[in-house]
Amino acid sequence: MADERLSENLERITREATLTRGLGRSYGDASLPHASGARIANSVLANRLISFNLETGALRAEAGLSLQSLKEIFLPRGWFTPVTPGTQFVTLGGMVASDVHGKNQHVEGDFGHHVRWIRLRLGSGEIVECSETVEPELFFATIGGMGLTGHILEVEIQMQRVESPWIWQRRERIHDVAITLRRLREAGEQWPFTVAWLDLLADGRDFGRGALMCGRWATRAEATKPLSLQVKRRAVPVDVPGIVLNRRAMRLFNAVQFKWSQRDSEGLEHPETFFYPLDKLLDWNRMYGKWGFIQHQAVIPCDDSIEPALQYFDLIRTLEVPVYLCVLKDCAHEGRGTISFPLQGYTFALDLPFRPDATQRAVDRLNEFVIENGGRIYLTKDGHTRAEHLRAMDPRLDGFNELRRRWDPEGRIRSALSVRLLGDTP
Ligand SMILES: Cc1cc2nc3c(=O)[nH]c(=O)nc-3n(C[C@H](O)[C@H](O)[C@H](O)COP(=O)(O)OP(=O)(O)OC[C@H]3O[C@@H](n4cnc5c(N)ncnc54)[C@H](O)[C@@H]3O)c2cc1C
Repeated sequence: MADERLSENLERITREATLTRGLGRSYGDASLPHASGARIANSVLANRLISFNLETGALRAEAGLSLQSLKEIFLPRGWFTPVTPGTQFVTLGGMVASDVHGKNQHVEGDFGHHVRWIRLRLGSGEIVECSETVEPELFFATIGGMGLTGHILEVEIQMQRVESPWIWQRRERIHDVAITLRRLREAGEQWPFTVAWLDLLADGRDFGRGALMCGRWATRAEATKPLSLQVKRRAVPVDVPGIVLNRRAMRLFNAVQFKWSQRDSEGLEHPETFFYPLDKLLDWNRMYGKWGFIQHQAVIPCDDSIEPALQYFDLIRTLEVPVYLCVLKDCAHEGRGTISFPLQGYTFALDLPFRPDATQRAVDRLNEFVIENGGRIYLTKDGHTRAEHLRAMDPRLDGFNELRRRWDPEGRIRSALSVRLLGDTP
């Protein structure tokens, strides 16, 4: 059990804490305490807006402000964050610490590319401010640093003007993985938002069929309807018994999804459906039953060739656990953070059901491929990577740990992830 503190006064509760967490939407152990009983701070009540400059779009806010609140306040006024992940139930602090990316990574890079200033409490207890020019090493280590450089108290980000709150979306159904990979790149030349969903439960030639979704903010002329941000959400009330969500049921689900996207279509789409399809179903993770699932997200470097990505698919096909969901994005920009995830290449986010031993073996095989191909895994999605595998794939870790020791000589700031992967003491 953690000793988790919540307060509007984040400065106060971070004084004795070993880690700060936000809305807990990271999939693995990044926001969990390093040991039972360890004191951690939860930022969600520290959610005030501090300032907004209407001319420049610079927004300063407390780290616990949620993306959902930000959207509700700013989207109707013609502003939005330049980068959004696939859920709005995240905090600003969590977005910085994971250096999150969205469907427009190929255009805007990561969230960290739009962060201008951070105020944080170090492990030593001192409160400091940093930016690209003031304490730049601390600034870049904090972007994507998984909360391990200190407690983020306040953040300034650059907001973006949007012409309307609606999205203009195009959906394309595709039967073949190689074509999807090529179309994703081609579409990225015209569309700021692109993403593909792939059916990896279908047999034979259907394996890898799916849909490509492209989008951009709709123009004022296209956005003919008023937009309501009051969205009805349904909840999954209980853990679904494993028997309901077996491989066969998921195959059916994917087949229905594929049928839905049968017609290629284009038109106005609600931003909620476009950016956050899973947020409509509260506690959707309970659908995976008592055993739950894990996510594995890797980026496979691919310059002009799609060959490494195709080989990764061949590997996925042979895993001993099924892949219930696969989301594919095009990455074009390396992250700015010292240990940020993105690299130029294709990223694959895979949902795998949890099965003792078999899931670990599947993660190991995926990671061995990532190492051989010079890729990376996304720490915020990880719970099963072995420390030796991470070391082999990421030569930046020693430098990152050295920086951490500089600001936190006693090694106070830790998480379950940093104990598992970075050699911190439990
Ligand atoms: C349905 C779904 C879709 C997602 N889609 C995407 C996506 O498209 N792209 C993407 O990049 N990610 C995606 N994610 C992951 C998610 O965006 C990140 O895990 C994000 O960091 C979660 O924010 P949070 O506030 O919940 O942080 P938490 O999960 O609470 O914490 C995540 C990390 O941030 C640190 N942290 C949080 N707040 C602070 C703070 N104030 N100071 C210091 N450290 C802090 C924690 O210590 C931890 O290491 C998705 C997650 C879900 C559930």
